[in-house]
Amino acid sequence: MLEDNYRHRGLRKKLVNLLKTKGITDDLVLQAIGKVPRHLFFENAFLEHAYQDKAFPIGEGQTISQPYTVAFQTEKLEITKGLKVLEIGTGSGYQACILLELGAKVFTIEYNKVLYERTKAFLPKMGYKPYFFLGDGSKGLPSKAPFDRILVTAGAPVIPDALIEQLAEGGILVIPVGNKSKQTMVRIRKKNGILSKDEFDYFSFVPLLGDQGWNP
Ligand code: SAM
Repeated sequence: MLEDNYRHRGLRKKLVNLLKTKGITDDLVLQAIGKVPRHLFFENAFLEHAYQDKAFPIGEGQTISQPYTVAFQTEKLEITKGLKVLEIGTGSGYQACILLELGAKVFTIEYNKVLYERTKAFLPKMGYKPYFFLGDGSKGLPSKAPFDRILVTAGAPVIPDALIEQLAEGGILVIPVGNKSKQTMVRIRKKNGILSKDEFDYFSFVPLLGDQGWNP
């Protein structure tokens, strides 16, 4: 049963307060974290982990990202209602739910078939309906491009050219770039056809696989 009770809501409130102390300031992002029932992404035996600020295994050698990381990337994306967003690395679907709570139209692509099938079946049960795709997101999603925002939730060795090409005018790409154990969070803006780049803190993501990613 998909239960979300006062105890879960209380734990979420605590998590939101913790994220504030860690430097997340965007109220809409914090509200979205406060709304999405993260415990529903965990099996019963691991419920106590759901509202800790930690990444957690979701099977297939993959993880549900740490709430701070989700909040950080989402904040850097500057989401407003109605924007068309491509998420690369659907994983559990938690990040997609946060983007949907912010009013984005979400296209999410996953490389791993088991996770794709599982998340595509589960998210609508919670009332979240992004568009799901199975494939190599290191090549973007050319059939649905351009995108106002592109979010990569796996660590990339380079910024794939395809993602820059598929970014709309005025668009923002957020992508962790580096080696397999440590990446810098990079934000690319496209304004009047000109690209600008900001670099933020280090993070540690599972590797982006595929054509423009790491070899499996
Ligand atoms: N956003 C996810 C969430 O909210 O749970 C967390 C993503 S997890 C850290 C990274 C995901 O990227 C994994 O599910 C992995 O299978 C996926 N992935 C890796 N390479 C990919 C690629 N080339 N295209 C699409 N997904 C990829």
